[in-house]
Amino acid sequence: MLKPKSYVLRIGHRPERDLRVTTHVGLSSRALGASGMYLAADDRKVVDSIMDVAHRFGGTYFCKNNVKWKNCINIFKRNGGKVVHLTMYGLRLQDVISEIRTEKKILIVVGAEKVPGNMYELANYNVAVSNQPHSEISALALFLDHLYDGAELELAFPDAELGVLPTAIGKTVIKHDEYHGDEV
Ligand code: SAM
Repeated sequence: MLKPKSYVLRIGHRPERDLRVTTHVGLSSRALGASGMYLAADDRKVVDSIMDVAHRFGGTYFCKNNVKWKNCINIFKRNGGKVVHLTMYGLRLQDVISEIRTEKKILIVVGAEKVPGNMYELANYNVAVSNQPHSEISALALFLDHLYDGAELELAFPDAELGVLPTAIGKTVIKHDEYHGDEV
């Protein structure tokens, strides 16, 4: 099992406009070892399309619709977790990742447009994946890869209806019970 356990909190999501990006935040975090996503907006379409993939491709990833972002942060902290806010203004990923690896569980916060000012104080770590502006999807993917040091690429997802057999050319889809690997 990957350590620390990680969860994503998506804030600032605008239904319709951010549908594709937020769906990809969920799918990328699932594929790269996170345990679930809290969505601080009411958008069932996003949750349904992430959970459709999660059911077909296995594992225990969850997606919770319409959370109150401050409550989510406070409850997570009260339960012993630490909050990592991804922001281009934060401390450099490469300088803080080894300390973050020692935490029990982390909530990774990613924004959409402008993030509320108090997010910087609520976070235990404000982390920059380079100090250049880019995207929540790339920031999250790189953060998770550094957090788990590549081990997330070895994960297998139990109870899947579908799995992919890596092939040099073409596509091979298999039943998951023919698949072997570390479980999420
Ligand atoms: N301009 C917005 C602001 O100042 O809050 C950020 C917009 S950006 C498209 C959306 C999200 O991507 C941010 O909230 C942050 O989570 C993430 N992001 C973008 N660049 C980043 C970076 N260099 N390091 C870490 N996270 C980043």
